Amino acid sequence: MLAPTRASAARVARSRVRPGDAGWPSEARWKQLDQEVAGALIQTRSPLDECLSSPTTAGCGKLFEQVKNPYFLSDQVGLTQTLGWVDAWTSRASPYAVAARTTGDVVAAVNFARENNLRLVVKGGGHSYQGTSSAPDSLLVWTRRMNDIGLHDAFVGAGCAGLMAPQRAVTVGAGALWAQVYDAVTTQAGGYVQGGGCLSVGVAGLVHSGGFGSFSKAYGLAAGSLLEAEVVTADGMVRIANDCSHPELFWGLKGGGGGTLGVVTRLTLRVHELPQTFGAVNMTIKATSDAAFRRLVALIVDFYARSLLNPHWGEQIRLRADNVVKVSMVFQGLDRSQAQAIWQPFLDSLASAPQDFELEFSLLKIVSTSARGFWAPTMFKKLLGFIRTDDRPGAPQGNVFWPGDEAQAGQVLHAYQSAWLPAALLVDARRQALVDALFAATRHWSVSLHVNKGLAGAPAEAIAAARDTAMNPVVVDAFALAICGAQGPPGYPGMAGHEPDVMLARQRTAAIASAMDELRKLVPNAGSYVSESNFFEPNWQQAFWGSNYARLLAVKAQYDPDGLFFVHHGVGSEGWSADGFTKLG
Ligand SMILES: Cc1cc2nc3c(=O)[nH]c(=O)nc-3n(C[C@H](O)[C@H](O)[C@H](O)COP(=O)(O)OP(=O)(O)OC[C@H]3O[C@@H](n4cnc5c(N)ncnc54)[C@H](O)[C@@H]3O)c2cc1C
Repeated sequence: MLAPTRASAARVARSRVRPGDAGWPSEARWKQLDQEVAGALIQTRSPLDECLSSPTTAGCGKLFEQVKNPYFLSDQVGLTQTLGWVDAWTSRASPYAVAARTTGDVVAAVNFARENNLRLVVKGGGHSYQGTSSAPDSLLVWTRRMNDIGLHDAFVGAGCAGLMAPQRAVTVGAGALWAQVYDAVTTQAGGYVQGGGCLSVGVAGLVHSGGFGSFSKAYGLAAGSLLEAEVVTADGMVRIANDCSHPELFWGLKGGGGGTLGVVTRLTLRVHELPQTFGAVNMTIKATSDAAFRRLVALIVDFYARSLLNPHWGEQIRLRADNVVKVSMVFQGLDRSQAQAIWQPFLDSLASAPQDFELEFSLLKIVSTSARGFWAPTMFKKLLGFIRTDDRPGAPQGNVFWPGDEAQAGQVLHAYQSAWLPAALLVDARRQALVDALFAATRHWSVSLHVNKGLAGAPAEAIAAARDTAMNPVVVDAFALAICGAQGPPGYPGMAGHEPDVMLARQRTAAIASAMDELRKLVPNAGSYVSESNFFEPNWQQAFWGSNYARLLAVKAQYDPDGLFFVHHGVGSEGWSADGFTKLG
C-alpha cells in the first residue's frame, strides 16, 4: 500500500469548481502557476469560438478546411481530432492549459488542480472518439510538446537489474505521435515498434487503451510491448512503473484507459526485429444480387478462416450494405508472390462465377515493399496516393497520414459500435451462422472486420503479453473487432451553415444498432475496447475490461483515491456525475 498522501488526507470537496465560482483560482494564483511552469500556461480558446458569432467569414471558411488536416488539429491546444458526437459530446476548450515541456510542468499542473479542486483533463494526440481529452471548465495538461524519442540497445527497467533481460527499446515522450516513432524506429533504425494504425494518434493515449496496429496479429497489443512508464500520480509524485516498481500501476496503465490513473510523461516500448517485407492487398468485389452477396460473404469468411487467420495478416475486410466486399489488408513476413499464391484460390472462386461477382480492375491489388520503407514518406507513395501529407507551408516532412484516416479529421460522429467476434465462430459447425449474422447485419449498415484488433491466431508470446494487461481478456479469443460507424463532415452545434445533421445522425444510430444487434444475437456479451467503442455502452465496465475490472478499480483506489482523474466511462467514473464535477453518493 502507498503511504497516505497530502491529497488523500485532505478533506475532498464533493463538487469541483468552475470559472465564476467563489473557489475558482484568482488571477494571482494562475500567474503563480504560470511561473512554476516557466510560461507554459496558456489561456485557451477554441478557434471555433469566433465562428460561433460570425460563421460566414472567410476565416471561418478557411478553418473548416484546416480541420480536415489531422496535424493542424494536433497542433491546436483548443481543438480535438473529432469535433463531437451527436447527442454525446462537443469539443470544448479548457479555459487554461499547461502546455507541458517537462515532467515538472506536469507535477505543477496536477498539484494545482488538486489543491484548487479543479476538473483536470489530459490531452496527447487528441484522437479520443469518446471526447475524453476535452472537458469544459477544466485545467488541461497538454503533452504534445513532450515528444523526445531515444533508442536503447539494451534497456533494463529501473529496479529490474538481474530480473529482466536487457532489451532493444525506445523511450518516447508522452506527446509523440506514432508517425514520429515509426520514423525513428523503423525508417531510421531498422527496428519495429508496435504502435497504432493511424499515424497521427498519440503514443500514450493508444498504449493506455491497449492499442492495435496493422501488424498486431504478429506483435500483439502496443501495451503488450510496454516496458516502463514515468507517471505523475494524483498526489503529485513522479513514479516509475514497470514490472519491478509499482507493478499494479504498470499493469493498469496497459489497457486500463487513458486519463484515469495519472499523467504519463514518458514510455519505454520494446523494439522488435523488423521483418524483411510488408505488403498490402486491396480489392473491391461487387456482388450482383443479395443472394450472390451472401455467397461472397461466405467465400471471404471461409478463405479468412483457412488462409489468413495467422500472424501474417492484418487490417480490414469491409462488408458493405451495397453488396460490396472491400479488402484493405496488410501482410508481413511474406513477399508479393507468396501473398499472390495465398489469394489465388479466392481469386479463382470469384473468376468461376462472373455472373455473381465483379472484381474491380486494379494493377495494384497485391503490393509489397521493404518493411523498412513502409512508413517512409517517399515521393513515389505520395504520387500514387498511398500516403497523404500535411499541406501547411513549412510542415515537417514526417507529418503524413493514410488516406483511409483522412475523413476522420474534424469529423462529427453520428454513431459508433464495435464487438469482438470469437474465433470459435470460424469452426466449420458455426461458420454458416456467422455468415448469416454478418449478412443480416449488412442489411442495416456496413460492417468492417478489423482482423488486427483481435488476437486469435497471434503468436503465444503476443497472447501472453496481452493477458498481462488490463484489457478485457476476451481480446485473445477474438479473430476480429467488428465495427459499424458513421460520421458527418466537420461541424459544430449552433454554428449556422456548419450544424451537424442531427436527424440523419439519429437515423444512422438506429440503423447501426440494428446491424450490431444481428451480431449480438450470436455473441450476446461481446466485449470491445475502450477507445473504439460506443459512447453509450451501457455495460462499459464489463465490455471494456471484463474480469479485469475489479483489479483495475483497486489500482484506481490505490493511486487516485479521490478521483482527480475522471473520464467518461473510465475506471471509477461510476462514482461521479457525467461531467466529472460532482461526486455521487
Ligand atoms: C482516425 C483514428 C484512427 C485510430 N486508429 C486506431 C488504431 O489503429 N489502433 C488503435 O488502437 N486505436 C486507434 N484509434 C483510437 C485511438 O488510439 C485512441 O482514441 C487513443 O486513446 C488516442 O490517443 P491520443 O493521445 O491521440 O488521444 P487523446 O484524445 O489525447 O487521449 C486519449 C485518452 O488518453 C488520455 N491521455 C492522453 N495522453 C495521456 C497521458 N500522457 N497520460 C494519461 N492519459 C493520457 C486522454 O486523457 C484521453 O482520455 C484511432 C482513433 C482515430 C481518431
